[in-house]
Amino acid sequence: MTQSLDQFAAEKLTERRENNLLRDLFDTHRDGPITVKRDGKTLISFCCNDYLNLSHDSRLIQASHEALDMFGTGAGASRLITGNHPLLTALEEELATLKGTEGAIVFGSGYLTNLGVIPALMGAGDLILIDELAHACLMSGTRLSGADEIRFPHNDLAFVARALADKRDQYDHVMIITDGVFSMDGDLAPVADLQTLAEQHNTWLMTDDAHGIGVVGDGRGSSFVEGAGSIPALQMGTLSKAIGGYGGYLCASQSVIELLRNRARSFVYSTGLPPASAAAALAALKIIRDEPDYCALPLQNAAYFCRALNLPEPQSPIVPLIIGEPDKALQAAKALEGRGFLVTPIRPPTVPDGTARLRFTFTALHERAHLDQLIDAVRKIIA
Ligand SMILES: *Cc1c(COP(=O)(O)O)cnc(C)c1O
Repeated sequence: MTQSLDQFAAEKLTERRENNLLRDLFDTHRDGPITVKRDGKTLISFCCNDYLNLSHDSRLIQASHEALDMFGTGAGASRLITGNHPLLTALEEELATLKGTEGAIVFGSGYLTNLGVIPALMGAGDLILIDELAHACLMSGTRLSGADEIRFPHNDLAFVARALADKRDQYDHVMIITDGVFSMDGDLAPVADLQTLAEQHNTWLMTDDAHGIGVVGDGRGSSFVEGAGSIPALQMGTLSKAIGGYGGYLCASQSVIELLRNRARSFVYSTGLPPASAAAALAALKIIRDEPDYCALPLQNAAYFCRALNLPEPQSPIVPLIIGEPDKALQAAKALEGRGFLVTPIRPPTVPDGTARLRFTFTALHERAHLDQLIDAVRKIIA
């Protein structure tokens, strides 16, 4: 038995290796807000989602330390048993205020949030319309729900409108799901227009703002880029990117939040977030609320990079440079590493076949000199 299992694993790995799709873990010591050490070499990272560099901010570290000293390292149980630390309640209030909703619910991670929320609200007899480039965990949550699924062409409002006109009547509930900021392309979803369609067709819009909170819409995320008029029913996100720590959340109405506390399995049956993580996230949200100019820096840095290389104006701090084949993307990343930059290549199945890419992410504390050096290096490797 074991032999056939190992053989299965070996065959799968060989297949991936031959297609240049094998992935590996490299020990990476993030020794400062923008640098990493690998193999004893210091690199400037342009592939971290810590957009505001808050994971190394002294205010978060101090808040986290204090909570650690007072409350220990772990929550000890699910939040419904004894794991509901008051810091989590405070964090949920802050998230709801930032996102303009009645309530919020915090989960162990962004992935767990999507795995819990979607099946708690949708099931057999329902329909989910989901953008074809939506994040893998939205796809997982959708599949887990048992609802019918239609993947719509990326950001295609006309397709969504047609699908709603044709299909809405055949289903009990219909949900539209999209990234607010697309994780591998950096573009925005047309959130306001999707919300209008959702309202016209009695449909629920869910946005995943993992890459929006802290960095677009004055730090409030993708629902606030076009003004604060049309807030999706379900705004999901993570505490693991611009917030600098770990955890996930959903902001919605009070009744939805209450239902999720009872029905989202990754909430009910999973241990609460450690208090120190909640304390760090609270400190991060205070910075985001008080320092909009700081929150604007990642996008400004991305724009500087794009202007220098004649790339389209970015909508977020994520800038893809499509290379095509996986081996070429690996080579380009290696060449950048040789020049002192860490930019991990992104390959299928994370992105569609033929669109392997370098995915640059810009953060608040990248300096002009770092950007200029990177621009110079990119010019040389793509020349
Ligand atoms: C990273 C990411 C997630 C998962 O969040 P974690 O907190 O890392 O589990 C979900 N959705 C999108 C769009 C992401 O980029």
